Amino acid sequence: MVTLKGTKVVSGIVIGRLFVYMHPDKHISRATVEDTDAQLKLFEDARNKAISQLEELYDSSVPYLGETNASIFVAQEMLLEDGKYISFVRKQIEESRLNAAYAVVLASDEFSRLFTSIEDKYMQSHVADVRDVSERLLRILCGAEGEMVLPQEPCIYASDDFSAGDIVGFNRDNVLGLATMFGSQVSHASILAGTMGIPSIIGLGQEMLSIYDGRCAILDGQSGELIIDPDKKTLERMKKKQKEYEEHQKMLLLLKGKNNITRGGKYINVYANIGSAEGVETALMYDAGGIGLFRSEFIYIESLTYPTEEEQFNIYREVLEKMRGRKVIIRTLDLGTDKQASYFRPEKENNPALGYRAVRISLAQPGIFKTQLRALFRASVFGNLDIMFPLIISVEEIRQIKDIIREVTAELDSDNIEYSRDVRLGIMIETPAAVMISEELAGEVDFFSIGTNDLTQFTLAIDRQNPKLETYFNSIHPAVMKMIEITVNNAHKAGIPVDICGEAAADLTHTQDFINMGIDALSVAPNMVLPLRKKIRECD
Ligand code: PEP
Ligand code: MG
Repeated sequence: MVTLKGTKVVSGIVIGRLFVYMHPDKHISRATVEDTDAQLKLFEDARNKAISQLEELYDSSVPYLGETNASIFVAQEMLLEDGKYISFVRKQIEESRLNAAYAVVLASDEFSRLFTSIEDKYMQSHVADVRDVSERLLRILCGAEGEMVLPQEPCIYASDDFSAGDIVGFNRDNVLGLATMFGSQVSHASILAGTMGIPSIIGLGQEMLSIYDGRCAILDGQSGELIIDPDKKTLERMKKKQKEYEEHQKMLLLLKGKNNITRGGKYINVYANIGSAEGVETALMYDAGGIGLFRSEFIYIESLTYPTEEEQFNIYREVLEKMRGRKVIIRTLDLGTDKQASYFRPEKENNPALGYRAVRISLAQPGIFKTQLRALFRASVFGNLDIMFPLIISVEEIRQIKDIIREVTAELDSDNIEYSRDVRLGIMIETPAAVMISEELAGEVDFFSIGTNDLTQFTLAIDRQNPKLETYFNSIHPAVMKMIEITVNNAHKAGIPVDICGEAAADLTHTQDFINMGIDALSVAPNMVLPLRKKIRECD
């Protein structure tokens, strides 16, 4: 029996087989080889296998994606037939005597660079294809064939780290829990695991080796432990703990239908954060008063290409209809940093968290933004919609956003398409700049929502993604608390409501502080709605 200690992220106790999921490109090193023919054969076999995988993927996805969207697999197959790509890899093996896997890594870099340097936007879009195809080859060459070898039964997934895109790609029914060597509590992978209610732990360290693949394991999302090959006594003890946890969860369900009201009689709205239309079911199951943050970028991440206006409209409409008049705050696209869509790869940046992301993309590429806004406004007649904009740093940005909204609604008017005139517009307060000018910003919008994840990152100058800084990342640092206080005061001075939708909202040790500051609402992962309700009812 081996017990590894990490950090808890999402509570819950699960028992099952461990499946170690490796990202191939992180483990490939350069090697000089004697037998170049053997490496050429490895590459040729991998190429043929990748081609047949892509053919299968195309056939199986046409029925639900349609031929146009599925054609991405045809484009990728063509790359594998492309003489230039093939001869580049062969040359690396034959002339530089490199191992096949490393030759593919070099080809991936070289062709991505080539496509990026071409001015034409269409050619640039091939960068994602080059990377995906190369990754597929690497998975085959390294013995891990990606989607093809994902287990068919429920397992505990373990890895060095997961990206939000990895999690979106897994079949939820087969993921009992998530365990990582590294990771961070406020990465989008962790946040996504929280909104999907997948018990998770991070930071287990390098001992979580691939030799544990296939072993029986217990993941304890309460203590942050991963127990491998548990002995009989431990297994019994953990099964008992699991039962107690489940009973506690049932007890919490008794709070459904009750008010979020403090002992002093103050009412606090409790909303849920979601990343997909399916998240609404969980939010309703836990009796959320509304959706405080729908991270719409997950629609883009899950999609093989830019989601169309119609696809987005259907999703927003479904969410609004299912929430039956309860508040739904949908945040516009917040791609960037650790949230990447395979078809949207901006150039490599030195500081991606400070880079081309969120509203900056929306304002620089208004075509993408307008498609989303049209879908949102069209859906607005089906419920109670608020639209929120991420990473705001100036009044000017809000004015630009409003100009674009005016264009979109004018188009809808001239097309005689209905939309609600009551859509409220709000912004995320997640940069120190926004806090410092919150008085001015409050005069421009209908509400504020404080994103403590990014606000902490930027206030403390601590990368929210860096596992080495995990212990320094403190969303209730006095400086962050002061930022929250300033924001709440300026919002209330202007007569607009303010909520917290970052992970700090679920920190029950500070609920009383947030209430004292005058926060109007807290928005948390769906499975935290009832624990938070319980806490609010115990507060003064
Ligand atoms: C935040 O930054 O606190 C937030 C809610 O947005 P995200 O976590 O998606 O960056
Ligand atoms: Mg943020």
